[in-house]
Amino acid sequence: MLSAYLVNPGAIEIREVPIPEPGPAEIVVKIISALTCGTDLKAYVRGHSLIPMPGPFGHEFSGIVHSAGKGVKKFKESDEIMPVHSAPCNNCSYCDRGIHNLCRDIMKNKVLGAFAGYIRIPGHVVRQNCYKKPGELSFDEAAMLEPLSCIVHPYSRIKLRETENAVIIGAGPVGLLHLLFLKSRGIKTIISDLNEDRLEFANSIGADILSAPAGLADTIHDNTKGMGADIVVECTGLPGVWQESVNYVRRGGIVILFGGCADGTSVRFGTHMMHYDEITLMGSFHFTPYDVKNAYSLLRNRTINAGPLITDVIALKDIKTAFENLKNGKGIKYSVRP
Ligand SMILES: [Zn+2]
Ligand SMILES: [Zn+2]
Repeated sequence: MLSAYLVNPGAIEIREVPIPEPGPAEIVVKIISALTCGTDLKAYVRGHSLIPMPGPFGHEFSGIVHSAGKGVKKFKESDEIMPVHSAPCNNCSYCDRGIHNLCRDIMKNKVLGAFAGYIRIPGHVVRQNCYKKPGELSFDEAAMLEPLSCIVHPYSRIKLRETENAVIIGAGPVGLLHLLFLKSRGIKTIISDLNEDRLEFANSIGADILSAPAGLADTIHDNTKGMGADIVVECTGLPGVWQESVNYVRRGGIVILFGGCADGTSVRFGTHMMHYDEITLMGSFHFTPYDVKNAYSLLRNRTINAGPLITDVIALKDIKTAFENLKNGKGIKYSVRP
């Protein structure tokens, strides 16, 4: 089979490798759709601490069970499935406390290599985080399970009933998924980006108010009776924008710091505002099996229709084109077909 390896930032090699064999409790999935992701793009552009290089590339996918190892009862050959690429160990001090997204082994035991013909899924992921694909979802939509699981995670810690409005900074794939989620909960959204095409796209999928970054403070002021936003979601992963994002939230509001910044960067926040205005800064990393289940329901019930976020379908051999396009701000997500 063919498998895309990220060798260095900017360098992808298509290698011929054997089709994996499932061990006990494992399954091997024939990939039908694998999606590009913001994390992949970061790794492609500047490297990423959680994506080893050279190494197999891609982690959002759906497909058909090709073979199942000993002891697998949940799935059989030719089942259409929608998995994510990780699951907690259920055995560490974080898992004991129910903080499964921060499991000590969550990244160690993850699967990479979705830009390939086949992928092997370890037993702990098969058991906890794989679902059968409903017939009415396309494979492209089903592959949204992983990114949507990340998106719903921070909201599992927030009382959304008390949220009237939200500001999303960055209208890339992640910002747009936040938009779809917040709109599904009836929340008024203001979305900001430098890229006008992306803002126009955000408008087409339901954004209430669009803003260029330069005018964002005024737009928020005018649309929140001068209070500031209930929630601000930072989706750019740029330290300067992280720092700026606290200025847009109302007193008692929450800033979700969703976009991961490059290693070694730091920001400064004023202490007065943090204390007297009770601003909550909320980091958000990865997801728990509860979030995956929640994301699965949202896709299955069509509460969230993420299909329009797929810009184009691209053959595995042309994968570099997809990442070059993304690097140049062209497109949202590409579906790579092996
Ligand atoms: Zn992803
Ligand atoms: Zn654990």
